Amino acid sequence: MSQSRGRFGIHGGQYIPETLMNAVIELEDAYNKYKDDPQFNAELTELLNNYAGRPSRLYYAEKMTKDLGGAKIYLKREDLNHTGAHKINNCLGQALLAKKMGKTRLIAETGAGQHGVATATVAALMGMECVVFMGKVDCERQALNVYKMKLLGADVVPVTTGTGTLKDAVSQAMREWTSRIEDTHYCLGSCMGPHPFPTIVRDFQAVISKESRAQILEKEGRLPDAVIACVGGGSNAIGSFYHYIGDRDVRLVGCEAAGRGIDTKDTAATINTGRLGIFHGMKSYFCQNEYGQIAPVYSISAGLDYPGIGPEHAYLHDIGRAEYVAITDEEAVGAFEYLSRMEGIIPAIESAHALAYAMKIAPTMSKDQIIIVTVSGRGDKDCAAIARYRGQDLRD
Ligand SMILES: *Cc1c(COP(=O)(O)O)cnc(C)c1O
Repeated sequence: MSQSRGRFGIHGGQYIPETLMNAVIELEDAYNKYKDDPQFNAELTELLNNYAGRPSRLYYAEKMTKDLGGAKIYLKREDLNHTGAHKINNCLGQALLAKKMGKTRLIAETGAGQHGVATATVAALMGMECVVFMGKVDCERQALNVYKMKLLGADVVPVTTGTGTLKDAVSQAMREWTSRIEDTHYCLGSCMGPHPFPTIVRDFQAVISKESRAQILEKEGRLPDAVIACVGGGSNAIGSFYHYIGDRDVRLVGCEAAGRGIDTKDTAATINTGRLGIFHGMKSYFCQNEYGQIAPVYSISAGLDYPGIGPEHAYLHDIGRAEYVAITDEEAVGAFEYLSRMEGIIPAIESAHALAYAMKIAPTMSKDQIIIVTVSGRGDKDCAAIARYRGQDLRD
């Protein structure tokens, strides 16, 4: 393995057991074979357009813009995709690739259940077997998504190791893949893990900025001044940034979950509070305790509740090309409620982190400036939790 392969500066790489090497090499070879193949790309585009509902709209939020009194705000509506978020972009790409590789079985990790549902969805569509690993604690918190995955024909395996949450589900999925690579593809849900996953997931999510760039040029005749997206592992953000990375005048802003604040232990803001480390097959920044162990993380948003960040974001941070800001639960809940009332769009609580930052900076910008905010998903799944945050129990 050459040192530069799969590296983003010092980040990325393949820190995996020998037993997984064959699987990642097979995946990399297949990806290199198909990524520029016209037939593969035509099939993927057909699925993205006619199954997932792409291209997603770039919506001018006129009322929000007038209310905030500064920059023009556009929303990239990934919430309108089938299954309600950006996750389907990556799942369709990986499942199609797995099929071309002759795999008949998909495995996946999931935290809140969004990636598990998207993977179970494409597995149903393509007639593949599907097993989803989910922390036991998360299974209990997200019973509706467990039901949906089973309804779609997937097996859901509760993971009891560690804290019984997302990071443990990733570890378990990697172990499972090691023991069964002949017929199985690991459909990883974010731009993280060992090479080639960060690159594959980024490429499948880059459709977001490919579309938004063309859409804003058509509507405004110029590029935006800022692109803002929320960051868990970082897949919707890297997809939203990718086609603007070379445009130095476009500010790229990733919004991490500060939870109860970056000066507390109840946070998931990796760039703002984490340190360099190696975990889940990659070198990147991770939330760690004083001994370098992965720290428990917290956010009101289950989708941002991951103790690491994809290696390409770590690199964009190092070179100063993208900024990573921390948004608290309180600020995100405020934005969740604001967008619902102002535009009649209930965003995912993850996406509300990006909207909260747009609400902070838009008033400081001039009226001829433009912001694009990615609405990574819709908020139906979050209504009960936000009501509870405001002291109301919907089961009453
Ligand atoms: C999973 C999820 C996220 C976080 O994942 P990324 O890989 O950082 O994009 C954000 N928003 C929604 C709606 C999600 O479902």
